[in-house]
Amino acid sequence: MSDPVTTRPLKHMGDLDYSVVQQCMHCGMCLPSCPTYLETRQERNSPRGRIALMRAIADGDLEVTREFGEEMYYCLGCLACTTACPAGVDYPQLFEHARAEIEHQGVLFTPGRRFWRWLTLRQIFAKPWMLHAIGRMLWFYQASGLCALVRKSGLLRLLPEYLRNLEPSTPAVRRHFSAELIAELESPNFRKSRVGMLTGCVQDLTFSEVNRDTVEVLLANGCEVITPRDQGCCGSLHAHNGDLDQAVIQAKRIMDQFDLDSLDAIITNAAGCGSHLKHFSNLLKHDPDYADKAVIWDGKVRDISEWLVSIGFRKPEGNSISQKVTYHEACHLCHGQGISRQPREVLRAIPGLDLVELENATHCCGSAGVYNITQPEQAAKLQKEKIACIQRTGATLVATANPGCHLQIQNGIGSMAEVKHPVSLLAEAYRAERSSVSVE
Ligand code: SF4
Ligand code: SF4
Repeated sequence: MSDPVTTRPLKHMGDLDYSVVQQCMHCGMCLPSCPTYLETRQERNSPRGRIALMRAIADGDLEVTREFGEEMYYCLGCLACTTACPAGVDYPQLFEHARAEIEHQGVLFTPGRRFWRWLTLRQIFAKPWMLHAIGRMLWFYQASGLCALVRKSGLLRLLPEYLRNLEPSTPAVRRHFSAELIAELESPNFRKSRVGMLTGCVQDLTFSEVNRDTVEVLLANGCEVITPRDQGCCGSLHAHNGDLDQAVIQAKRIMDQFDLDSLDAIITNAAGCGSHLKHFSNLLKHDPDYADKAVIWDGKVRDISEWLVSIGFRKPEGNSISQKVTYHEACHLCHGQGISRQPREVLRAIPGLDLVELENATHCCGSAGVYNITQPEQAAKLQKEKIACIQRTGATLVATANPGCHLQIQNGIGSMAEVKHPVSLLAEAYRAERSSVSVE
């Protein structure tokens, strides 16, 4: 098949500030941190190689081809290169614009791909009611035993191979979503601050209890919590997958749900969302109605552990979690937001918890958004490496702060260890403290 090339003028890459394209000084310091470069040792699979291709396209020396599209979808978007880069290259912006350009030019077009992208990005993750309806159906399918029956019947053999391989790792959908577990307004005994709570999309369906735990921890630290209903996706999924136009719509939608002036912070507990939510000012810089508001928004978004440490959270008492715990750093928390110390501070504050450091804690686990669906082989390799590192720690519990990493690690490690969000462990410690006080 011939390699399709761009025939349309550049839209997203043309929109990119040229100073961002020029930032790379070709030093190569990012190469040893890049999982795809380490896998192939090819320059084109490295951050430096990808940036060179993007610059050539922006300069008009190269066209957007299928090959370029495949290259940019081979990149995990793990952002390890941004941490390693001494020049401060804004790789997230380059990556998002490059993927958006690839979709705009249609170089990866197939009817099936177009349909799945429309269904997921423009329907399911664009309409909260549809996401919830599908969540309810999935919950019924899993909880009623229908799922087990289908697995036994061999019907899954009818699915395409990649879907068949993925089916066993489908996340368990919760019976109750966040709006059923969290009231719109929850007030602490003594109010010190007022925060907005982001419930997410995947997090809302598959980890609604983490959202509840987050609210409990905030209340225990004097934060009044406002949780708007039907929030839906913040658009991070869209931005990372080349749909910047829909990402803009999602960003405005979520911003409209919060009264920014009345809030001290807006809290997220999902690393992938947080890393996107903190850059709305970039996404909306050309929008006359939202540009200023987005700057205020960015300044108020906080990851939960970042917020807790900044307000001097209360350390629980007693001896609640007597377990060896290791901490996996979600890429979009450590590389995307520069948050490494705070989750460890939260974990170390829990009495009885024995925190053991994880070798290569900042290395990607292979989840990387939908990478484990689009690049299953490379994702499986990274998952295997991560699990081997976890096993060497002897920990029986892995703490991590992103739903994708949570699922990827849990699927890889099986019953050998539990996976929990650091804030859930802190919530557990507060609950244990309360119950020991009431017993006395
Ligand atoms: S985001 Fe990750 S995979 Fe992509 S270039 Fe950077 S380090 Fe490599
Ligand atoms: S470390 Fe930064 S400046 Fe150096 S090659 Fe990589 S992206 Fe370019």
